[in-house]
Amino acid sequence: MIQPQTLAGFFVFLLGLVLGSFTNVLIYRLPKEESPISPRSRCPQCGHPIAFYDNVPVLSYLLLKAHCRHCREFISLRYPSIELGMGILSLALWRRWQAYPSWFVSALISSAALTAISLIDFETFLIPDILSLGLVGLGLVSAPFNPLFGHAVWWMKLWISFKGGIAGFLICALIAWLGEKMFKKEAMGGGDIKLLAAVGAMTGALGAFNCLMIGSLLGTVYGIGLMFRGKVTRSDPIPFGPFLSAAAIFNLFYLLPFGFPFRF
Ligand SMILES: [Zn+2]
Repeated sequence: MIQPQTLAGFFVFLLGLVLGSFTNVLIYRLPKEESPISPRSRCPQCGHPIAFYDNVPVLSYLLLKAHCRHCREFISLRYPSIELGMGILSLALWRRWQAYPSWFVSALISSAALTAISLIDFETFLIPDILSLGLVGLGLVSAPFNPLFGHAVWWMKLWISFKGGIAGFLICALIAWLGEKMFKKEAMGGGDIKLLAAVGAMTGALGAFNCLMIGSLLGTVYGIGLMFRGKVTRSDPIPFGPFLSAAAIFNLFYLLPFGFPFRF
Protein backbone atom coordinates (compact mmCIF):
# COMPACT_ATOMS: atom_id res chain seq x y z
CA MET A 1 0.00 0.00 0.00
CA ILE A 2 1.47 3.34 -1.07
CA GLN A 3 1.27 6.03 1.58
CA PRO A 4 -0.61 9.20 0.48
CA GLN A 5 2.48 11.12 1.62
CA THR A 6 4.69 9.19 -0.82
CA LEU A 7 2.17 9.67 -3.61
CA ALA A 8 2.04 13.44 -2.97
CA GLY A 9 5.84 13.57 -3.00
CA PHE A 10 5.96 11.68 -6.30
CA PHE A 11 3.43 14.05 -7.86
CA VAL A 12 5.37 17.08 -6.60
CA PHE A 13 8.57 15.63 -8.10
CA LEU A 14 6.85 15.18 -11.49
CA LEU A 15 5.53 18.73 -11.26
CA GLY A 16 9.11 19.91 -10.71
CA LEU A 17 10.32 17.96 -13.76
CA VAL A 18 7.68 19.59 -15.98
CA LEU A 19 8.47 23.02 -14.55
CA GLY A 20 12.16 22.30 -15.22
CA SER A 21 11.29 21.58 -18.84
CA PHE A 22 9.54 24.98 -19.08
CA THR A 23 12.55 26.60 -17.36
CA ASN A 24 14.71 25.23 -20.20
CA VAL A 25 12.40 26.92 -22.70
CA LEU A 26 12.71 30.23 -20.80
CA ILE A 27 16.52 29.97 -20.75
CA TYR A 28 16.62 29.30 -24.48
CA ARG A 29 13.98 31.76 -25.68
CA LEU A 30 13.91 34.81 -23.38
CA PRO A 31 17.37 36.13 -24.42
CA LYS A 32 16.20 35.94 -28.07
CA GLU A 33 12.99 37.77 -27.14
CA GLU A 34 10.92 34.84 -28.39
CA SER A 35 7.63 33.81 -26.83
CA PRO A 36 8.11 30.94 -24.38
CA ILE A 37 4.62 29.63 -25.13
CA SER A 38 4.39 29.28 -28.91
CA PRO A 39 5.49 27.85 -31.28
CA ARG A 40 6.20 24.32 -30.09
CA SER A 41 9.77 23.39 -29.11
CA ARG A 42 12.11 22.70 -32.01
CA CYS A 43 15.51 21.10 -32.28
CA PRO A 44 18.04 23.97 -32.11
CA GLN A 45 20.09 22.28 -34.85
CA CYS A 46 17.67 21.09 -37.54
CA GLY A 47 14.59 23.09 -36.51
CA HIS A 48 12.36 20.00 -36.61
CA PRO A 49 9.43 20.35 -34.15
CA ILE A 50 9.86 18.06 -31.14
CA ALA A 51 6.99 15.60 -30.74
CA PHE A 52 5.37 15.31 -27.31
CA TYR A 53 6.78 11.80 -26.83
CA ASP A 54 10.30 13.16 -27.41
CA ASN A 55 9.69 15.98 -24.95
CA VAL A 56 9.07 14.00 -21.76
CA PRO A 57 11.42 15.43 -19.09
CA VAL A 58 14.60 13.37 -18.50
CA LEU A 59 13.04 10.16 -19.91
CA SER A 60 13.13 11.28 -23.57
CA TYR A 61 16.74 12.33 -23.19
CA LEU A 62 17.65 8.85 -21.98
CA LEU A 63 15.53 7.04 -24.60
CA LEU A 64 16.97 9.18 -27.42
CA LYS A 65 20.46 8.60 -26.00
CA ALA A 66 21.11 12.37 -26.02
CA HIS A 67 20.58 12.76 -29.77
CA CYS A 68 17.90 14.47 -31.88
CA ARG A 69 15.62 11.89 -33.51
CA HIS A 70 15.85 13.67 -36.87
CA CYS A 71 19.34 15.13 -37.33
CA ARG A 72 21.12 12.95 -34.72
CA GLU A 73 22.72 16.10 -33.32
CA PHE A 74 23.89 15.84 -29.70
CA ILE A 75 21.46 17.23 -27.07
CA SER A 76 23.16 19.06 -24.21
CA LEU A 77 23.18 17.39 -20.79
CA ARG A 78 22.03 20.73 -19.46
CA TYR A 79 18.38 20.07 -20.41
CA PRO A 80 17.83 16.91 -18.34
CA SER A 81 20.06 18.31 -15.56
CA ILE A 82 17.81 21.33 -15.13
CA GLU A 83 14.70 19.15 -15.27
CA LEU A 84 16.06 16.78 -12.65
CA GLY A 85 17.36 19.67 -10.53
CA MET A 86 13.92 21.31 -10.54
CA GLY A 87 12.32 17.96 -9.65
CA ILE A 88 14.56 17.60 -6.61
CA LEU A 89 14.13 21.27 -5.66
CA SER A 90 10.36 20.91 -5.91
CA LEU A 91 10.41 17.89 -3.60
CA ALA A 92 12.68 19.68 -1.12
CA LEU A 93 10.44 22.78 -1.10
CA TRP A 94 7.40 20.54 -0.57
CA ARG A 95 9.00 18.82 2.39
CA ARG A 96 9.81 22.21 3.88
CA TRP A 97 6.51 24.00 3.20
CA GLN A 98 3.75 21.41 2.83
CA ALA A 99 1.88 23.03 5.73
CA TYR A 100 1.70 26.19 3.54
CA PRO A 101 0.61 24.97 0.07
CA SER A 102 0.05 28.47 -1.39
CA TRP A 103 3.52 29.55 -0.36
CA PHE A 104 4.93 26.29 -1.67
CA VAL A 105 3.56 27.14 -5.14
CA SER A 106 5.03 30.68 -4.99
CA ALA A 107 8.40 29.39 -3.78
CA LEU A 108 8.44 26.74 -6.52
CA ILE A 109 7.64 29.28 -9.27
CA SER A 110 10.28 31.66 -7.95
CA SER A 111 12.93 28.94 -7.76
CA ALA A 112 12.24 28.15 -11.44
CA ALA A 113 12.53 31.85 -12.32
CA LEU A 114 15.76 32.13 -10.29
CA THR A 115 17.18 29.07 -12.06
CA ALA A 116 16.36 30.65 -15.43
CA ILE A 117 17.93 33.95 -14.28
CA SER A 118 21.15 32.13 -13.26
CA LEU A 119 21.65 30.46 -16.60
CA ILE A 120 20.63 33.47 -18.71
CA ASP A 121 22.87 35.85 -16.74
CA PHE A 122 25.73 33.35 -16.88
CA GLU A 123 25.52 33.20 -20.68
CA THR A 124 24.44 36.70 -21.65
CA PHE A 125 25.25 38.95 -18.64
CA LEU A 126 21.64 40.08 -18.75
CA ILE A 127 18.67 39.39 -16.49
CA PRO A 128 15.32 39.65 -18.31
CA ASP A 129 13.00 42.17 -16.62
CA ILE A 130 10.06 39.84 -17.08
CA LEU A 131 11.71 37.44 -14.61
CA SER A 132 13.06 39.92 -12.04
CA LEU A 133 10.09 42.30 -12.07
CA GLY A 134 7.74 39.32 -12.31
CA LEU A 135 9.26 38.06 -9.07
CA VAL A 136 8.71 41.46 -7.41
CA GLY A 137 5.02 41.06 -8.32
CA LEU A 138 4.90 37.45 -7.12
CA GLY A 139 6.56 38.44 -3.84
CA LEU A 140 3.93 41.11 -3.18
CA VAL A 141 1.00 38.90 -4.20
CA SER A 142 2.16 35.98 -2.05
CA ALA A 143 3.17 38.14 0.93
CA PRO A 144 -0.13 37.67 2.86
CA PHE A 145 0.51 33.91 3.11
CA ASN A 146 4.32 34.04 3.31
CA PRO A 147 5.41 32.02 6.38
CA LEU A 148 8.89 33.62 6.31
CA PHE A 149 7.20 36.82 7.53
CA GLY A 150 6.02 35.23 10.80
CA HIS A 151 2.49 35.46 12.16
CA ALA A 152 1.66 39.09 11.38
CA VAL A 153 -1.74 40.07 9.92
CA TRP A 154 -1.92 40.00 6.11
CA TRP A 155 -1.48 43.73 5.51
CA MET A 156 1.57 43.80 7.82
CA LYS A 157 3.07 40.98 5.74
CA LEU A 158 2.35 42.94 2.58
CA TRP A 159 4.14 45.90 4.15
CA ILE A 160 7.14 43.67 5.07
CA SER A 161 7.31 42.50 1.44
CA PHE A 162 7.04 46.06 0.10
CA LYS A 163 9.76 47.29 2.48
CA GLY A 164 11.87 44.26 1.54
CA GLY A 165 11.64 45.13 -2.15
CA ILE A 166 12.65 48.74 -1.51
CA ALA A 167 15.48 47.65 0.84
CA GLY A 168 16.82 45.13 -1.72
CA PHE A 169 16.75 47.77 -4.42
CA LEU A 170 18.45 50.41 -2.26
CA ILE A 171 21.20 48.17 -0.78
CA CYS A 172 22.13 46.88 -4.22
CA ALA A 173 21.92 50.32 -5.89
CA LEU A 174 24.15 51.78 -3.16
CA ILE A 175 26.77 49.05 -3.59
CA ALA A 176 26.65 49.40 -7.37
CA TRP A 177 27.16 53.16 -7.02
CA LEU A 178 30.04 52.76 -4.52
CA GLY A 179 31.63 50.05 -6.68
CA GLU A 180 31.55 52.28 -9.72
CA LYS A 181 33.07 55.20 -7.76
CA MET A 182 35.84 53.04 -6.29
CA PHE A 183 36.78 50.74 -9.15
CA LYS A 184 35.70 52.94 -12.09
CA LYS A 185 33.84 50.02 -13.65
CA GLU A 186 30.42 48.50 -13.37
CA ALA A 187 30.43 46.18 -10.34
CA MET A 188 26.74 45.34 -10.51
CA GLY A 189 24.29 45.97 -13.29
CA GLY A 190 20.70 47.19 -13.25
CA GLY A 191 19.62 43.56 -13.59
CA ASP A 192 21.23 42.67 -10.26
CA ILE A 193 19.49 45.62 -8.59
CA LYS A 194 16.07 44.51 -9.84
CA LEU A 195 16.89 40.93 -8.86
CA LEU A 196 17.68 41.94 -5.29
CA ALA A 197 14.47 43.98 -5.16
CA ALA A 198 12.67 40.74 -6.14
CA VAL A 199 14.47 38.79 -3.42
CA GLY A 200 13.44 41.48 -0.92
CA ALA A 201 9.79 41.25 -1.98
CA MET A 202 9.88 37.45 -1.65
CA THR A 203 11.86 37.15 1.58
CA GLY A 204 11.90 40.63 3.15
CA ALA A 205 14.79 42.99 3.86
CA LEU A 206 16.46 40.31 5.98
CA GLY A 207 16.26 37.94 3.01
CA ALA A 208 17.71 40.54 0.63
CA PHE A 209 20.57 41.22 3.06
CA ASN A 210 21.21 37.46 3.56
CA CYS A 211 21.13 36.95 -0.19
CA LEU A 212 23.66 39.69 -0.86
CA MET A 213 26.04 38.30 1.80
CA ILE A 214 25.82 34.66 0.68
CA GLY A 215 25.80 35.63 -3.01
CA SER A 216 28.92 37.79 -2.63
CA LEU A 217 30.68 34.99 -0.77
CA LEU A 218 29.82 32.44 -3.49
CA GLY A 219 30.77 34.88 -6.27
CA THR A 220 34.12 35.67 -4.62
CA VAL A 221 34.99 31.99 -4.14
CA TYR A 222 34.08 31.34 -7.79
CA GLY A 223 36.11 34.36 -9.00
CA ILE A 224 39.19 33.36 -6.99
CA GLY A 225 38.83 29.78 -8.25
CA LEU A 226 38.78 31.01 -11.86
CA MET A 227 41.78 33.29 -11.25
CA PHE A 228 43.80 30.41 -9.80
CA ARG A 229 43.03 28.32 -12.85
CA GLY A 230 44.14 31.25 -15.02
CA LYS A 231 40.74 31.51 -16.73
CA VAL A 232 40.13 35.17 -15.94
CA THR A 233 42.03 38.22 -14.83
CA ARG A 234 40.88 40.63 -12.14
CA SER A 235 39.31 42.96 -14.67
CA ASP A 236 37.17 40.33 -16.43
CA PRO A 237 33.48 40.63 -15.58
CA ILE A 238 31.86 37.80 -13.64
CA PRO A 239 28.06 37.55 -13.70
CA PHE A 240 26.64 38.10 -10.22
CA GLY A 241 23.09 36.89 -10.95
CA PRO A 242 23.82 33.14 -10.65
CA PHE A 243 25.25 33.59 -7.13
CA LEU A 244 22.48 35.92 -5.99
CA SER A 245 19.95 33.44 -7.37
CA ALA A 246 21.57 30.45 -5.63
CA ALA A 247 21.53 32.40 -2.36
CA ALA A 248 17.91 33.46 -2.98
CA ILE A 249 16.85 29.83 -3.51
CA PHE A 250 18.52 28.95 -0.20
CA ASN A 251 16.59 31.83 1.40
CA LEU A 252 13.31 30.38 0.16
CA PHE A 253 13.99 27.57 2.66
CA TYR A 254 15.64 29.40 5.55
CA LEU A 255 16.53 32.93 6.54
CA LEU A 256 19.79 33.15 8.42
CA PRO A 257 19.57 35.31 11.53
CA PHE A 258 22.57 37.53 10.74
CA GLY A 259 20.50 40.32 9.29
CA PHE A 260 21.22 43.16 11.64
CA PRO A 261 19.80 45.84 11.38
CA PHE A 262 16.94 44.06 9.59
CA ARG A 263 14.45 41.91 11.44
CA PHE A 264 12.50 41.11 8.29
ZN1 LIG B 1 17.61 17.93 -34.87
